[in-house]
Amino acid sequence: MAKHIFVTGGVVSSLGKGLTCASIGMLLEQRGLRVRLQKFDPYINVDPGTMSPYQHGEVYVLDDGSETDLDLGHYERFTRAPLTRDCNYTTGKIYLSVIQKEREGRYYEGKTVQVIPHVTDEIKAAVHRLAEEDVDVVITEIGGTVGDIEGLPFLEAIRQFAIDEGRENCLYIHLTLVPYLKAAAELKTKPTQHSVGMLRQIGIQPDVLICRCEQPIPPEDREKIALFCNVDRKAVIEERDRQFSIYEVPLSLVNHGLDEILVKRLRLKAGPLDLSEWREMVERIKNPKHELRIAVVGKYMKHRDAYKSVYEALDHAGIANHARILVVRVEAEDIESRGAEATLGGVDGILVPGGFGMRGIEGKIEAIRYARTNGIPYFGICLGMQCAVIEVARDVLGLEDANSTEFDQTTDHPVIGLMPEQFEIRQRGGTMRLGSWPCALAPESRALAAYSADRIDERHRHRYEFNNAYRQAFQEIGLVATGTSPDGQIVEIVELIDHPWFVAVQFHPEFQSKPTAAHPLFREFVAASLRHRVSRDIGASAS
Ligand code: GLN
Repeated sequence: MAKHIFVTGGVVSSLGKGLTCASIGMLLEQRGLRVRLQKFDPYINVDPGTMSPYQHGEVYVLDDGSETDLDLGHYERFTRAPLTRDCNYTTGKIYLSVIQKEREGRYYEGKTVQVIPHVTDEIKAAVHRLAEEDVDVVITEIGGTVGDIEGLPFLEAIRQFAIDEGRENCLYIHLTLVPYLKAAAELKTKPTQHSVGMLRQIGIQPDVLICRCEQPIPPEDREKIALFCNVDRKAVIEERDRQFSIYEVPLSLVNHGLDEILVKRLRLKAGPLDLSEWREMVERIKNPKHELRIAVVGKYMKHRDAYKSVYEALDHAGIANHARILVVRVEAEDIESRGAEATLGGVDGILVPGGFGMRGIEGKIEAIRYARTNGIPYFGICLGMQCAVIEVARDVLGLEDANSTEFDQTTDHPVIGLMPEQFEIRQRGGTMRLGSWPCALAPESRALAAYSADRIDERHRHRYEFNNAYRQAFQEIGLVATGTSPDGQIVEIVELIDHPWFVAVQFHPEFQSKPTAAHPLFREFVAASLRHRVSRDIGASAS
């Protein structure tokens, strides 16, 4: 029978609950346990797919095509746990299911349908769905902060869960903030006391407190927290801000004995902890041999999490190449107003990630032209691939008004167009070409060299595609389709042959990169950027 860990947060949001859950998952896996992770998001959208990146940050896409919260990206980067659409539920998704059942008229046998028990039952069923036979521990993260009105049904459901399954089979972890007040020169435990107080009012007594803090928590403060919050002293765990990398978080949790507390309290049959590979990876992060400046050109640059997985995948590629990556965040519109040289001069590689809508498109195209004409490594992802095709069409093929029909429906040269199966679709949510699709790679391509395989699977999220009417023309000037759907119909990868490294892909490779196993295309893009850097330095010292 699977055991359950529920993770809640208090005091403030953005405490890194997702990272903490991912770290706990990783530690339990490294002790030989089979783990599953899931997240509940109390907002009403059925999934984050319809939300602006400014609101919500990146939309993380799974193999099965579900559009999920970006915390699932942490789960995948830290663990081997398979993720499916059962791993992310919102209030909207729960209610949608309840309302559909009510409309069908069979399920509720004429009863009044209510939050308790019907909504809470639906939530509990979502937890049970992950507790399959071969699973030792299910970790369930509750989004938001204790005290939010919309989070209440989820908290009530996880409270009931321990009544149904036995308190000894469930463990509650509460993440809080222990702020340092400069004026008083001391740490403050009161917010934590209040937050735990609120949880206990709901009927949940946390077993473990993870206290985010900037300063170490002195023993007397830990004592106080333990006493007032009714938590074992050893289970008050300090989690200080990381100096180098998020990948240090599990190491610090181990230092405070968290894995042992969980194993003992849940009576898990766990093996010894083996963190050698992880520790080696963290050492590499701390001791890079090179430093590289990679420009990421987008339109949501002010939101730290809008391109989360892209930044993470660049870091992983840096780890693989012994390099620290300094990401230069460039607003595409800045390129339009200040020019490419002023915004991109001196970078070692340029990446244009995915995106939607017209704003900033011309700036992205200008960035790609700058990379192409100056021999700077270029990596295009999804919209970044579509913009690369438009750029080459305009500047090399001489099709001046070439465009995507997403931005100009009357262009004479729609080099990027709506996929035929999208023509009739009117509803926005969950209707793109989503999830994992196979792709066949051409011999002697950079893609094939990177993957060392001629057939790959990558995740997608798009409505538009490369227009095959132009394939031959592009091929003749050296922009070659080196990856396609196995039937050859959908262009998935283009490469510019006469360039040090210019690869653009319709899919999202950033969703399949791990710190201990960088994605092959990111790894090779960073390797090419390193070569570019070295050859430029040699050129500069020779002249
Ligand atoms: N807007 C483009 C499309 O829908 C690209 C999507 C993306 O970059 N994820 O095809």
